Amino acid sequence: MLPSRSLADAVQDALRLSRAMTYKAAAVRLRHGGAKCVVAAPSDAPLRGRRRRDTLLDVADAVEELGGRFVTGKDAGTTVRDFEVMAERTPHLVGRPRTRGGSGDPSGSTAFGVMAAIEASCERVLGDASLRDRRVAVLGLGKVGAHVARRATPAGAQLVVADIDVAKRVLAERLGAGWTTPAELLASDVDVLAPCALGGVLDWPTAKRLRCRVIAGSANNQLAEPRVADLLREREILWAPDFIVNAGGLISVASELDGYAAQEARQRTSAIADALRTVFAEADQAATNTLVAAEEYARRQAGVLRAAVP
Ligand code: NAD
Repeated sequence: MLPSRSLADAVQDALRLSRAMTYKAAAVRLRHGGAKCVVAAPSDAPLRGRRRRDTLLDVADAVEELGGRFVTGKDAGTTVRDFEVMAERTPHLVGRPRTRGGSGDPSGSTAFGVMAAIEASCERVLGDASLRDRRVAVLGLGKVGAHVARRATPAGAQLVVADIDVAKRVLAERLGAGWTTPAELLASDVDVLAPCALGGVLDWPTAKRLRCRVIAGSANNQLAEPRVADLLREREILWAPDFIVNAGGLISVASELDGYAAQEARQRTSAIADALRTVFAEADQAATNTLVAAEEYARRQAGVLRAAVP
């Protein structure tokens, strides 16, 4: 739920995001299609109080009308409290609190998948999955980035981090990580760059300045435009496609539909590394970039899943 300039923009957003959800689910063999609910909030003033509640109830009614064929979770612009309001009208919600049988905040699972992706990417490019003495840069110390940073340190990585929120520097110091500006981080000489802030971070000029060997992070839609994937390939920088790298969160919330089982969700999350290994090998074989290879891989998996539906 975000302020939208126009309804057309919101529709575009829903189409782009639902496409990514389809690829994400298929790539990790989840038996779900891809959908996304976008609520075009007014751009003049934030939705609060009665107006917010009425909007959420309308959204919940629309979800309920679909009778369980569409299930939604929290994302940008919505809170736990918003979902409590929606739960008054529909049960078709995931990401509920653990105390109510839900899977809770998916960020830890997402970070677990990001770590698996970083290791698989290092193995491909550097010949070794271990992070010992690897220079790892994390952009964005939010819910996912902080988990990634906390996991990378005990794995032996030399960590450097950046966030636009300077309050995050405290965590950097606690972890013994270097702190720099986002712009400097993106140009720093490291083995791994993990973009864990917002999308669109890899535009053409930024991709030209990068000095990392591997990019694997949680941010959605990292490439500002698809042709950046070609530039990264030319520059021999391995880009692990975001929609596979960050599938851990979806795996976690999807497991709620079958009764949440943390162990099984963890096991599935490690499938992220297997999917990436195949994508990297197929990209090399076809002499193409990893975005093209990953979309092709996801389409193939979707076909397999569809064929298995009785
Ligand atoms: P968050 O809002 O908790 O954290 C984002 C962090 O990035 C914040 O600390 C913010 O200050 C920082 N940031 C914002 N703009 C920045 C910039 N220009 N430069 C540097 N830092 C900046 O979000 P999150 O839940 O950690 O998610 C991070 C990314 O991962 C998002 O793109 C999200 O869509 C994606 N993602 C998250 C999950 C999940 O489970 N939370 C799952 C899949 C994908």
